[in-house]
Amino acid sequence: MAEIRVFAVDTEICAGHGRCYALAPESFEPDDSGYAEPTGRDESGRPQTEIDQIIGTCPEEAISVASAPVASEA
Ligand code: SF4
Repeated sequence: MAEIRVFAVDTEICAGHGRCYALAPESFEPDDSGYAEPTGRDESGRPQTEIDQIIGTCPEEAISVASAPVASEA
């Protein structure tokens, strides 16, 4: 099964600073209260240095990246 890499936000600790969606609006968007929601974009092609930069921009350490399986087209 194929995999993609996606960002995740821990909604328990996200404080809504907005740094993530200011830096990477293609990957995060604000909800109605300003808290971050991942867009689900596949980050497989993004350099690790950029991923680390985006993770590091969150002062609450609420951002992580994980691999997620996707059904391959047969
Ligand atoms: S930078 Fe961190 S705390 Fe701020 S909105 Fe993004 S995930 Fe939430």
